[in-house]
Order: sequence, then C-alpha cells, then structure tokens
Amino acid sequence: MALTGLEIFKLLPKTNCKKCGKPTCLAFAMALAQKRAKLEECPDVSDEAKEKLSAASAPPMRKVIFGTGDHQVQVGQETVCFRHEEKFHNPAVLGVTVSDKLDAEAMKKRIESINSLQFERIGIKIGVRTITIVNDSGSPELFAKAAEAVKEGSDLAIILVTDLPDAMAAAVTKVKDRIPLIGCATPKNAEAMAKIAAENKCPLIAKAESIEALSELTEKISGSGVEDIVLTIDGESVKDKLYNYSRIRVLSLKKGFRPLGYPTISFVTGSDDDQVALGVSCICKYSGIVIVDTIEPYALLPMLTAVMNIFTDPQKPVQVEPKIYSIGEPDENSPVMFTTNFSLTYYTVESDVEASRIPSYILVVDTEGTSVLTAYSGDKLNEKTVADAMKKYGIESMVKHRKLIIPGYVAVMSGKLEEATNWEIMVGPRECSMLPKYLKEVWN
Ligand code: SF4
Repeated sequence: MALTGLEIFKLLPKTNCKKCGKPTCLAFAMALAQKRAKLEECPDVSDEAKEKLSAASAPPMRKVIFGTGDHQVQVGQETVCFRHEEKFHNPAVLGVTVSDKLDAEAMKKRIESINSLQFERIGIKIGVRTITIVNDSGSPELFAKAAEAVKEGSDLAIILVTDLPDAMAAAVTKVKDRIPLIGCATPKNAEAMAKIAAENKCPLIAKAESIEALSELTEKISGSGVEDIVLTIDGESVKDKLYNYSRIRVLSLKKGFRPLGYPTISFVTGSDDDQVALGVSCICKYSGIVIVDTIEPYALLPMLTAVMNIFTDPQKPVQVEPKIYSIGEPDENSPVMFTTNFSLTYYTVESDVEASRIPSYILVVDTEGTSVLTAYSGDKLNEKTVADAMKKYGIESMVKHRKLIIPGYVAVMSGKLEEATNWEIMVGPRECSMLPKYLKEVWN
C-alpha cells in the first residue's frame, strides 16, 4: 500500500541537506508521496529505506503482457476503481475461443472468422485481440495441433486453456515464441502449471472457487517464481462474478492486498444474446480480459464499444488528426469548410458533407479535441488558429477559389478571419445537418 508523506519522512536521512532540490527532507517526502519526486533524487537514502520505499511504490495491480509485435496486449496496472478518479490505463481485451475438437477445415474457417472481427468506430480501429484455444478434447496431441493451426492462421495474441498439465506442456512448446497466456492453474495442478509457465516464460491464469482460495493460490504460484498472473473465479453467477471482481479490485487497490493485485479474466458462455449482456457486464466490473464463444459481429460490437467508452480518458476527448480531409474526389473548384478535431464533431460534419454528394475539403483545426463552440469560447478556435491551419496544410494550393465556409455558430469571427486569411468568408449553417442543403443551394 502507498505510504503517506510522514511515513516516508521517517525513512529519510533527515539532514535537510537540500541535495534533492527540496528545502527539507519533509518537503521531499511529501513530493514523493504525491509522485512529484523520485527516490533516486536523494543520494543519501539508505539501502534499507530504498527497499521499503520501492516495495511500497510498486503498482497495486501488476501489468501482464502477452502476445508479440503489433499484436502484443497488456492488461492490468489499474490504479483506480472509478474512471472519474483518474482514468483506466489498459483497455479490456476481447478474445474468442477455438475448440481443439474442430476438424482442420472447420478450424481454418473459425480462425479466419475471428481474424475478420475488426471494426472502425469514429476513426478508431477496434476488434478482437486474442484467440483462445480450448482443450475440449482432453487430448494433448489435439491441443498441440490446434495451437499450431492457430499460430499459422492468426497473428492475434494466443491464450491456451486446459486444466491438464500434460496437454499444456504439449501445446505451449508449439507457440511459446508468441508468448501465450496459459491457464488454468488450480489448487490441484498449481505446481505443474507454474513449472510450465516458468520454463516457457509465459504469464499464467490462476483459477479458484473463491477469493480466499484464489489469494492462497497466487501466493503459491508467485512463490514458485511466476510473477505474471491473471485471476479468474470458477463457476459463478453473473451477480457473484461482479461482486467478487469488484472485491478483488477494492482489496488490491484500496487495501494494497498483494495476493490479489493482478488483472482478471472472464470466460463468457451462453446464447449469443446472453454473451453480449454478460460480456458488457464483465467489461464494466472489472475484467481485464473477456473471452467469448460467439463470432457474431452484432454480439461483439456492443462489447467493443463498451471497452472504447469505459477506457476513454475522461480528461482527453477522442480526437481526429488535424489535417485536410477529402470527401469524395474534390478538385480545385470544390468547397472548403473547417471544423475542429473533436471526433464526434468531425464525423458528424463528414457524414453530412458526404450526404450532399458534393466533393469537398474539410480542414480540421487542432482545438485539443473540443467542439466548435467550446473551442471558440476557450480561444482555441480563432482567426489565427484557422489561418495557421490553412497555411500548414496547404489548402491554398489545392483550390483556385478563395472561399471558406465557416460553421454558423462562429459567424462572429468572419470579419477577423477575412482579414487574417484574405479569403472570402461564407457563413454556413449553424447545424451541420443543414450542410447538404447549403452546399446545393448556396455553394452551387
Ligand atoms: S537529499 Fe535526502 S537528505 Fe537531503 S534534503 Fe533531500 S531528502 Fe533530505
């Protein structure tokens, strides 16, 4: 658990030598507690104090990484229970199962279907990020064969699931270069599973029937040298799962209870409709990884959307890249209009311009992700920022006219904008839903 400033102060040399740049040891202790200073900045701190302080400053929930390259995923390292307290750091990862009972053709098809579960929403790519091979057959040979087939057919991060250590040993050797997440270690097989995880340098899923059994299990696993652990609780109703995962989050973050300081994984089954409801619930409270059976895009999309919404930094609006966007195939006579880089604003404008069927240029001005009126009232959208963006992205060389359509809500800036750009300013509609009519009637 994090130490208070006074607790840290007791461990410092108390010489007030100022070498750390602070006037006193107490000031340094306070800065350290608020994470505004680093322990290394005090050159005289004892080894014993260093050990105590670094243990106390370790994150309350461990970060666990698996997969490789562009498909590497990381979960955990959360620091708060509620997003408004700060933000959530690592978005929940969604995965889909492949049974090792499938024949070669069916398996190939399923892997292809899982690979294709990628979507775009407000300009951001979202999709399934792991593929989970389940040892339904109980056969080490079939499990290993399925692992090979998945490795060949997909670049997604791999999770291997079996309670049988011999099956895990057979499969993990086929995919260990992809650093799979493996599981599940249970109170019965923990020793053997931890050995496989340690030998192959893979993170390990720990599964037990209660929080108490789970904390005993993680201590056993970490005692055998495996530090990267993901937690799951076996056989629960939705209500119990949400209750227990919330308790795990509170005990690890608020109470600093290390045996539960790991991310969690949920395995979701049932009808496609049930999986949507349960999957979204698990994403809300507090599964770092959610594994489903369904490959129906309609079932996956609500879960991916929930991840996107919950893991958005509340202090940082979703933004698009500031630049000139071409809608259709505009030419030197096409209209030019501007908007801000707040994603929601941009995509609303974009779809209305598309609806007009008039090829156009949209200049997106960097307003730190704020909407038109917010940016204008915060002075992030003014004649200078617009003129600078026009120059920076070279709109002058793309059209031969000198007319700029501005949002009706900021008609007030038209005079100054005309002076700053030497362009004719045309005041567009206040609501962008009126843009198709405006472009057809006024522009044309
Ligand atoms: S360098 Fe260390 S001993 Fe000196 S004032 Fe800072 S905290 Fe105190």
